[in-house]
Amino acid sequence: MIIGILKETGTEKRVAMLPGEITVLKKSGVDVIVERNAGENAFASDEEYKKAGAEISSRKDVFAKASLVISVDHIPEDDLKYCMDKQILCSIINPVENAQWLEMVRIQKLTVLALDLIPRITRAQTMDILSSMATVSGYKAVLHAASLSPRFFPMFMSAAGTIKPSRVLILGAGVAGLQAIAIARKLGAVVEVFDVRAAVKEEVKSLGGKFIEVEGAREDAAAGGYAVEQSDDFKKKQQELIQQRAAASDVVIATAQIPGRKAPLLLLKETVAAMKPGSIIIDLAASTGGNCELTENGKTLNVNGVTIIGKSDYPSDMPTDASKMFGSNIINLLKILIDKEGNLILNMEDEIINGTIAVHAGEYVSQRVKQLLNIK
Ligand code: NAD
Repeated sequence: MIIGILKETGTEKRVAMLPGEITVLKKSGVDVIVERNAGENAFASDEEYKKAGAEISSRKDVFAKASLVISVDHIPEDDLKYCMDKQILCSIINPVENAQWLEMVRIQKLTVLALDLIPRITRAQTMDILSSMATVSGYKAVLHAASLSPRFFPMFMSAAGTIKPSRVLILGAGVAGLQAIAIARKLGAVVEVFDVRAAVKEEVKSLGGKFIEVEGAREDAAAGGYAVEQSDDFKKKQQELIQQRAAASDVVIATAQIPGRKAPLLLLKETVAAMKPGSIIIDLAASTGGNCELTENGKTLNVNGVTIIGKSDYPSDMPTDASKMFGSNIINLLKILIDKEGNLILNMEDEIINGTIAVHAGEYVSQRVKQLLNIK
């Protein structure tokens, strides 16, 4: 079997697989074709890919030869005309935002492995691209905020007097939020945290953060460890409490998400008005509407001295390690897809494979995709 690795389009700097992972992949008996300059923005040259055993060729050639084509983001519509019959595409899909793209691919009878649909179960942890990328985002968001802040993060006791530590407020203690807590604490900040899932309370505490509880949060065991939409009463109480804590904070890192829905609104414009000039808000939920009412995705705003950064693409700013993690996750997924002879087998009985295949042979497969897109 031939596996193809594409160069990303647009501003994306990651590549789905670095040469190191190609070396590992080659050991499983497959051939690899990599689009020319695929790794250039992640500092991996075509020479390194060749040394790892890959063939370097044009984009069209990758589509013409590979039965499995891997990229970070889903391929643009324009590329669909190059796809071979029954070709398998593997990337992050964002099915809700790209429902129309998915429908075109279904009609074309291609198979799509949606990396963002990999079930969040223990056996799939090593393949969990969302967790890897959220780790990068949480880390980078805190460093970005620290570099922009007019204040130190740690407490300083010097001959010039004592400087109080920065206060960092973290909204959402999922993978990105927990990483943000760890980094902000390492830099010496005082950290306060909101989440609607009681299960994260102990994790927040163990990382040195203070968990602020709002009574009456709704949880649903069927949501697979994810948060669910809250009642209006809860939302109001939570927004008020967040306003109090944000007014006392120097930095807010907003990471709260509800899968398949718009991000919860946690920071109202009144809250921003109550914050100190010089404060920084980093909104990682920007691409799904943002946790802050004023957030604009991909933009940096200054609202009465408060900097609001709407940014959901931090992994692209750390392309080397983000690509390394991405590629390792894919290698782990391929371990359950490739047999000893190097052939790709789609065992629909396997819950990881079944959950990850968005469309196959003209049908929607993953239950989650059907739920998210409301397909009966
Ligand atoms: P996510 O990106 O969907 O959400 C981020 C956080 O925002 C979550 O902790 C969520 O509870 C929180 N949130 C949602 N609404 C909120 C609100 N109104 N106020 C405050 N916080 C709110 O989640 P994620 O980081 O991808 O993962 C969430 C959980 O999934 C993990 O903590 C874990 O339990 C589970 N998980 C399991 C695996 C696995 O087993 N393979 C891998 C990753 C995550």
